Amino acid sequence: MTIIMLGAPGTGKGTVAGILSEKLQIPQVSTGDIFRKHIKEKTELGIIADQYISKGQLVPDDLTIDIVKERLKENDVQKGIILDGFPRTVKQAESLDNILAEENKKVDMVINLITPEEEIIERIVNRRVCSNQECKAVYNIVLNPPKKEGVCDKCGHELVQRKDDNVETVKSRLKSYFEITSPLVEYYEKKGNLYSTTVSKSINKLGKDVAIEIVEKIKKEKN
Ligand code: AMP
Repeated sequence: MTIIMLGAPGTGKGTVAGILSEKLQIPQVSTGDIFRKHIKEKTELGIIADQYISKGQLVPDDLTIDIVKERLKENDVQKGIILDGFPRTVKQAESLDNILAEENKKVDMVINLITPEEEIIERIVNRRVCSNQECKAVYNIVLNPPKKEGVCDKCGHELVQRKDDNVETVKSRLKSYFEITSPLVEYYEKKGNLYSTTVSKSINKLGKDVAIEIVEKIKKEKN
């Protein structure tokens, strides 16, 4: 099963993907996480990616598609994958369709998270992530704080703020989303596999609530 997480930055793609991954036993693959690992390890790819990520711009398609193409060949994702943050352009979406078609696979479900724009910046600046790359837990210091300040509930590692989670970078990330990524909503709507749902404190619905909603939907569709 191939699931895609779509939505503007800060809508909770990582949180929902993490819970779905646990409940459905399908690996979560985040292109952002892959880039951050390369940046940390100062690889050639990391040095190039950092030039874009630090400005809130998208990493070029060719580089990004190659990474996903390689990742899709690995054993652990043969039965299913939750792609978190990919595709982000129509070219990436078309390439993904082609890569999957070669294996007689397709995108089964696209989860489109919608959050009111005025909440997004607040959500991003309050976001903290676990520094343990194997854990990937995500917190919001106001809406979903850890039990002990600065410490991950799940694995006990330190919580950190992502370098690109600042007001300036968020503005260009949002611009990229609305100009370049949001046409994917129509792309998948036409294919008939889009599931849009709202994540917002105004209706008391956070990422974990959405994840439960989606697991229920998938279970119902299976029966
Ligand atoms: P994320 O962790 O998904 O918020 O991604 C962090 C940053 O990595 C984004 O702001 C982009 O600069 C870059 N990035 C992640 N995924 C992609 C992608 N599919 N295409 C281009 N750039 C990406």
